[in-house]
Amino acid sequence: MASSPNSLSPVDAADEWLACPQCDQLYRRVPLASGKKAVCVRCGAVLYRCRKRGVEFALALCVSGLILFGVANFAPLLALEKGGLIQETTLWSGIGVFLVRGEWLLALLVLVTLILFPLLRLAGLTYVLYPFFRGRATAAGAARVFRLIHAASPWSMLEIFLLGALVAVVKLGDMATVMPGIAAYAFVGLILVSAWAEYVIEPRDIWRRIDNHG
Ligand SMILES: [Zn+2]
Repeated sequence: MASSPNSLSPVDAADEWLACPQCDQLYRRVPLASGKKAVCVRCGAVLYRCRKRGVEFALALCVSGLILFGVANFAPLLALEKGGLIQETTLWSGIGVFLVRGEWLLALLVLVTLILFPLLRLAGLTYVLYPFFRGRATAAGAARVFRLIHAASPWSMLEIFLLGALVAVVKLGDMATVMPGIAAYAFVGLILVSAWAEYVIEPRDIWRRIDNHG
């Protein structure tokens, strides 16, 4: 019974057995060659992958994300032109406008969902992945940081912001000429890079590394 999927020993649950995410068929994990994936024989869902240079690639995406994040925060986001007058806005000046108007809840929402959580996610992943890339011991508190990243993920709402900004641009188009700034492009890049990092990172692989190098 020691290796039965019903005896919930944490080691067995994490390392030996896994359930298909689509149809719940149970499998025993086997090591894969680099670049290969394990597929469910019943429904064809991908069970897990062994990515080539997974950590290096994920780390490169996170660092690119941090650079794009800096640009998205401090470069001009939009420029409004009307009657020869041009007014530029950055994300932070937008938050300032909300505060001046007393809309502090809106300011807090923008601060948390567009700045704090996306930054926490990228910086946290970089912190966890970097020691694996350099072949060093796991970063202090890596398990806690990785758990926190997972918990904070639903609160990172870059895509929703972009959609809202697009609607606003279309509506403002009647009143003034709206020109997207460098930060707007950086936001698009940031969304793509974040989604790509999400795809590349195998949480199970990260947990295994944290366990082994801890
Ligand atoms: Zn399946």
